[in-house]
Amino acid sequence: MLGPRVEAYERMRIWHETTSPTNALVFDAAEVGESNLGYIVENRLLQAALLDEFTDSGGHLESAEFEELEVGADAVTVDTSAGTLSARLVIGADGAKSAVRQSVGLTADISDFNETAIVAPVATERSHEKTAWQRFMRNGTLAFLPLADGTSSIVWSADNALATDLAAMSPTEFETALNRASDLALGSTRLVSERIAFPLKRVGAHNYVTQRCALIGDAAHVVHPLAGQGVNLGLLDAATLAQLILDARVEREDPGALRVLRKYERWRKSEVAFMSTAIEAFDRFLAHGSGPLSRLAQRGLGWVNRSQEIKRLFVNRALGVAGELPRAAR
Ligand SMILES: Cc1cc2nc3c(=O)[nH]c(=O)nc-3n(C[C@H](O)[C@H](O)[C@H](O)COP(=O)(O)OP(=O)(O)OC[C@H]3O[C@@H](n4cnc5c(N)ncnc54)[C@H](O)[C@@H]3O)c2cc1C
Repeated sequence: MLGPRVEAYERMRIWHETTSPTNALVFDAAEVGESNLGYIVENRLLQAALLDEFTDSGGHLESAEFEELEVGADAVTVDTSAGTLSARLVIGADGAKSAVRQSVGLTADISDFNETAIVAPVATERSHEKTAWQRFMRNGTLAFLPLADGTSSIVWSADNALATDLAAMSPTEFETALNRASDLALGSTRLVSERIAFPLKRVGAHNYVTQRCALIGDAAHVVHPLAGQGVNLGLLDAATLAQLILDARVEREDPGALRVLRKYERWRKSEVAFMSTAIEAFDRFLAHGSGPLSRLAQRGLGWVNRSQEIKRLFVNRALGVAGELPRAAR
């Protein structure tokens, strides 16, 4: 049974400020033969479940700060605040500012979206109907993610100037701005607790691997949060790398060998590039811009709404079906 901190969502409603919520593009799980489109899971809950699974299957966990590493011919030596470790492979899963990435000299493109995401839990007058609601505006994107207790979590990715104003507002002023931005799709809204602001950056490592080291998750790539794909991409990195390490073991290959790690990089880098380009196109043409391409993209929402085939393609991507590791790709 799903606990109160996990909610399956069955629908997505996406619309642009030039139209109304009733004309939204709707992805409905039932229409594509699925019971839901995904789950909204509290991050701490997901982390705790993964850590439990890791320790239950014999993994040993020690809290320590990473300091430095040195790659040798047969092993890599890692200095941490709890002592020195030696392994044949190190996986850098230490987020956007990855010290592991810097330590092994893997370079990355890092740039600003010039946007800040404001996140907060809100109560809404009308039920969220197990639906993720998203409105594209000319100065950002506002999403309502449904939570199991009937409240929603908002992620409002706003241009920095607007975000600064939103962060400075009193709770009542913010609620008024939120009601205007949501077009009252869920009725009037009330803040349940404080707002938190996250300045948004994009990160793309030029290479995900080097001898005896692989990067996964935000250490390798940070994408815009508007499609809620960051964790999915990281989980698929982990699953792909785990599969290739198991394969290497069967073949009696060294799991830290560049030959093995390059397979991981080839597969995941192209998947991430595809996803990040698609997300940025949504941000550029739907959440910003007013030229002919933006108008075309706005009309595109209606076209997609009328095609079950295109909807199925989008849903498969969002569910990660297209991200499975085909044996032929290795
Ligand atoms: C506003 C916002 C909303 C988002 N919404 C969604 C969403 O709805 N769905 C979704 O899928 N994604 C979302 N994301 C993206 C998601 O949060 C990230 O993609 C995800 O957290 C990346 O996970 P990670 O484990 O790779 O990195 P992180 O979550 O950054 O974890 C890195 C870990 O490494 C540890 N670490 C760092 N340095 C060291 C060191 N030197 N020594 C030891 N440990 C270290 C840190 O303590 C941390 O525990 C959102 C992001 C933002 C900013």
